Amino acid sequence: MGIIEIVKQFGTQEECISYLESLKWGNIPTCPYCQSQRSSKRKNEFRHHCQECNRSYSVLVGTIMESTKVPLPKWFAAIALILNAKKGISSLQLSRDLGINKNTAWYLQKRIRQVMGDDDLFLTGIIEADDTHTGGSLVNKHDKEKASKQHHKTGMNHKTPALGMVERNGKIIVKVLNKAWGKEIKPMLRKSVDLKSVIVTDGFGGYKDLDQSFKKHVVLNHSKKIRKVGEYHTNTIEGFWSMLKRAILGQYHKITHRYLQNYINEMAFKYNIRNEENPFELLINKALRKVHV
Ligand SMILES: [Zn+2]
Repeated sequence: MGIIEIVKQFGTQEECISYLESLKWGNIPTCPYCQSQRSSKRKNEFRHHCQECNRSYSVLVGTIMESTKVPLPKWFAAIALILNAKKGISSLQLSRDLGINKNTAWYLQKRIRQVMGDDDLFLTGIIEADDTHTGGSLVNKHDKEKASKQHHKTGMNHKTPALGMVERNGKIIVKVLNKAWGKEIKPMLRKSVDLKSVIVTDGFGGYKDLDQSFKKHVVLNHSKKIRKVGEYHTNTIEGFWSMLKRAILGQYHKITHRYLQNYINEMAFKYNIRNEENPFELLINKALRKVHV
């Protein structure tokens, strides 16, 4: 569905609620507190009364859309706009497009990005792993060695390291690190990647001894210009870093350390749903299941 169709189809609170209810419950409302399906609909409200535990609830309980004053058609349009923006959309632009104030737009964007974080992904097969430094500007792999030599000059201290893991022809996981070193990188890899996988990395010391955990560890010696050994390379993750770099430069002047993971979640999510037929419904479904934080 394109943006115009979404705005047309979900123009009222009622249309949004009935769509959410059908996605979440089918035809039978289920109490989020006691799981009972015995309920009565409250008149003139989008709520149900549980006949078991006597509480009332709406389909929004436990979701990012619970207890906000923002009408659901605005939420839906925000989701459509964010999904449609390949390189991301600034909260300022979002506020103009939706006719809402800047702070509200920023809040919606932050919540929607939280939903995009996919913590239950697990990768298998050939996995390219690589780290980068992001922040006000991003230093990608090719600049990494050069930059580390000029550590103080380039202000690398102000940039935030991140680890990317991408499955060949599959999905990506990107996690912000406190520090790019083996003590953080290796546990992250072991948590997110099947131990029967083949890991492909450059020669950075943080990846040392991965062959002890995984089926195989292919090390590409980039400083000796070795970028590919047979079917093993790190082109996919490098492509993702340059896309992320362009997105950060193009849309955002500065992303603070605190929100970088949220921003990365958005870019990784879009990469992971690149072949999905209905990304809008997929994201709404995730939003319905995500616990309010
Ligand atoms: Zn109940």
